[in-house]
Amino acid sequence: MTNSTKTICPYCGVGCGLEVLPPAQPGKAVNRDSEGNPIWQVRGDRSHPSSKGKICIKGGTVSESLVKDRLKYPMMRDSLTDEFRRVSWDEAMEAIVNRMQKVRLTQGPDALCMYGSGQFQTEDYYIAQKLFKGFLGSNNFDANSRLCMSSAVAGYIQSFGSDGPPCCYEDLELTDCAFLIGTNTAECHPIVFNRLRLYHKKNRKVKMVVVDPRRTQTAEAADLHLAIKPGTDIDLFNGIAYLLMRWGRIDSLFIDECTQNFPAYAEVIRHYSPELVARKCGIRIQDLEKAAKYWGESQRVLSLWSMGLNQSSEGTAKVRTLINLHLMTGDIGKPGAGPFSLTGQPNAMGGREAGGLCNILPGYRLVNNPQHRAEVEQFWGVRPGTIQPQRGRTAWEMIQGLETGEVGFLWIAATNPAVSMPDLKRTQAALKRSPFTVYQDAYYPTETATYAHILLPAAQWSEKTGVMTNSERVVNLCPQFRDPPGEARADWEIFAEVGRRLGFEKQFSFPNSAQVYAEFVKITEGRPCDSSGLSYEKLRRYGPLQWPYADTWPCLEGEELDRQNRTNKRLYTDFCFNTPDGRARFGAYHSRGLAEPSDQAYPFVLTTGRLYGHWHTQTRTGRIPKINKKHPEPFIEIHPRDAAKLNIKENSLLEVRSRRGKAYFPAKITKEIAPGTLFVPMHWGALWAENAEANALTHPTACPSSLQPELKTCAVQISIARVN
Ligand code: SF4
Repeated sequence: MTNSTKTICPYCGVGCGLEVLPPAQPGKAVNRDSEGNPIWQVRGDRSHPSSKGKICIKGGTVSESLVKDRLKYPMMRDSLTDEFRRVSWDEAMEAIVNRMQKVRLTQGPDALCMYGSGQFQTEDYYIAQKLFKGFLGSNNFDANSRLCMSSAVAGYIQSFGSDGPPCCYEDLELTDCAFLIGTNTAECHPIVFNRLRLYHKKNRKVKMVVVDPRRTQTAEAADLHLAIKPGTDIDLFNGIAYLLMRWGRIDSLFIDECTQNFPAYAEVIRHYSPELVARKCGIRIQDLEKAAKYWGESQRVLSLWSMGLNQSSEGTAKVRTLINLHLMTGDIGKPGAGPFSLTGQPNAMGGREAGGLCNILPGYRLVNNPQHRAEVEQFWGVRPGTIQPQRGRTAWEMIQGLETGEVGFLWIAATNPAVSMPDLKRTQAALKRSPFTVYQDAYYPTETATYAHILLPAAQWSEKTGVMTNSERVVNLCPQFRDPPGEARADWEIFAEVGRRLGFEKQFSFPNSAQVYAEFVKITEGRPCDSSGLSYEKLRRYGPLQWPYADTWPCLEGEELDRQNRTNKRLYTDFCFNTPDGRARFGAYHSRGLAEPSDQAYPFVLTTGRLYGHWHTQTRTGRIPKINKKHPEPFIEIHPRDAAKLNIKENSLLEVRSRRGKAYFPAKITKEIAPGTLFVPMHWGALWAENAEANALTHPTACPSSLQPELKTCAVQISIARVN
């Protein structure tokens, strides 16, 4: 392929490699979308180590999302007409900086907030959080990873001493037993699933266990599907541990030499007899025993999870209880084994490296660690004590701060909280009363733009050069290959200009994104996510590279890249963890169940999730005809037995009510869902369907450790609004 650009897909954390070609190719008709706009051609990059040329419908159609409904110019809401009017960048910047200064002076730095996104490139994350944490004195920089992966982050930190998935995608093809829990991988991380399914098909001795209340496409491919009741994951994990203990299928040497706190854990799991666990989870004892047997008899067990564990009021406990199983069997730090969280967004991992949450600092440092704060302060050249010792506001706490008037300035970038936050009517009411909201995005209209005072046009993937890290710690350079529309700018450039206008000229002057990245990699030196040997130049020369990088894989001038034998594929291969004594920690947890279980008034448990084609709140995919055709409208899944009881027919429009709000969905009657449980996809906001917002129903109760809300489940009642 000539004049092509290698990059990665900007949707999910799988991070598939793409090759893109300009719309016009010699001797061929110009490639156009359904409206006649010239669009870039996309295909899988066979040389990419993560995806090996495979892509899904989202990656294959991504270039169709680059043209339609782009926000091209800064806009400001006119105080008289309440309409947006085009303004210059200078006018927009002046208004933003004046407001920030005023709010800081009158309400203090804690009244300033920014809510960012896993769609950011690492450079965007780094500059935004540097501005807030290091120069405005506010740790109120959080990202939508809070709704997605923060329980995995907290679980890794508490079990291993630092964040970071220890596995790599090669482990999918080396394991003896894949345990998929709370992840519909076939639809949400399709290329990861394809690799696993092919390997599983070819190797009949390899077992695949899927734990999910729904019989998803992922569950269809499994040797064993455990359709547990929502919220009983910890019961299941402790029940498996009970059996492994009883059968002597544990690695006592590993437990003795590499871990701590096993006695407390053993005291907890002795209460989880198979009879109790089977009853609580709603599964057969034989199936529980089969799952434990698969785990116990396998040399190498790989567990994969995503939102089903993370989006829970006990998300961290769920993640740690799963990790416990790996620790008690020594299934970590070796090929084909380990706990592996699948990240939702394309650069949620980069955000974690760059300090992109309100409780972390760059280089996997923590806000509440005095030494970490001092290291970052020294690196940034700010006086000691500048970085606040307490974590900042989480995404949901920013909404609460708008309600109380404590938040006076909110900057939202590359995310759509007016659809994606829990308790949506409350969220929307809070956004409505925001005294000043800046909304920075690539698209207009969006649901969140409705609540903004200023709109800033952002360049997106393909229109700026930056770095993204995928779920297996592979760092990818995503080069610019087309001009941004109108006056759109890279997110980091916008943040840096505000920094300079606020008086921090030296600290926010970067000639290009390569220099921003160079500063970022320097701050990671010696840290668990050490990327200090990486640069744009190396990423261009060698292609995608994995961290930790500096010590293990020097890539000296002229040296051949030995991907196969590299030593940084996995973490903890020496069984030494990032805790002070090098030992991993067992977490001893009893199950607390759902924050809002069903009851007489709200007798169904509603679960929310994603579909193969759509992405989050459809800001991109809603504008792609092929994807819309595949998933034209929202729906609610209901079991035939429940439908019969309530006289619900296929496509009957159901009114679904929770304690917080209501929404309407056509019924899809299916045995894929268990009786008493319902499922709705979370992709539809007000822009795409009327009153079909899943999050109008969900609640914000969060995990006390990760502060991630329980977006997955809530209690609802249903009635027929219309029979079709
Ligand atoms: Fe993109 Fe994820 Fe699909 Fe790969 S699996 S093409 S990264 S959406």
